[in-house]
Amino acid sequence: MAVLFRNNMAEVATNLRLVYDKIQAAATNRASEHRYYEPRLVAVSKLQTIESILSAYEAGQRHFGENYVNELVEKSSNSQILEKCKEIQWHFIGNLQRNKVNKVLNVPNLYVIETVDDDRLANALNNSWSRFRRNDDSKLSIMVQVNTSQEKEKHGCDIVKVSDLVKHILNNCPNLKFMGLMTIGMFGYDVANGPNPDFLCLIKCREKVHEEVGIDIKNIELSMGMSSDYEHAIELGSTNVRVGSVIFGSRPQKST
Ligand SMILES: *Cc1c(COP(=O)(O)O)cnc(C)c1O
Repeated sequence: MAVLFRNNMAEVATNLRLVYDKIQAAATNRASEHRYYEPRLVAVSKLQTIESILSAYEAGQRHFGENYVNELVEKSSNSQILEKCKEIQWHFIGNLQRNKVNKVLNVPNLYVIETVDDDRLANALNNSWSRFRRNDDSKLSIMVQVNTSQEKEKHGCDIVKVSDLVKHILNNCPNLKFMGLMTIGMFGYDVANGPNPDFLCLIKCREKVHEEVGIDIKNIELSMGMSSDYEHAIELGSTNVRVGSVIFGSRPQKST
């Protein structure tokens, strides 16, 4: 068991180093207008073990992403995580129902909720945050998830409603800090066919938010890119890539 754990630790550390090298290379390939920021790597640890998270943390990783509310609650309150990962930063990247808002807001070291997609969820987060924040004026960082592929079954704000939602957050949700836009996009897109249309769409949404709401482009992050396409996403201007399987290995199936 101990040997297995050590092997896994070394593997996660090696994978992480490789991903960081590729991120660096992709960042160098960006157009000069993008070179003012370092892309952030979020290690997506959903369905992975506590040991995997500890391994990545020990290798220097700080930002982690989780999709399921109960799993995030369990992992973030795990005694080893609390003891050994004091600087961990959790990203919630899954679908959030309004009746689960309090559970997520109670997570220690919650960094951002990336999946706000309508004003009712924004309101619920805004109203609850005053009971959970650690000091009086801290705001809850959120991103607006956009349904760039416009698939019916996908979550995310409709493309044409993004600016209105951002305006609503700015005008009516004083406890929230709008941090940027996020997309998951269509699965299995082949980059050989050109730039990913979901990424181009998110970039366009950012331009519209800039024009219609008046926020500086530099203050609107883009969360896009996963294991199969994070380098491509960074070259197009992603500020935040969410990478799971190439760091931790393939995921076990979610049991329901
Ligand atoms: C699972 C997941 C990821 C990571 O997927 P990989 O292909 O394993 O890198 C990123 N973003 C979201 C929203 C996810 O659900």
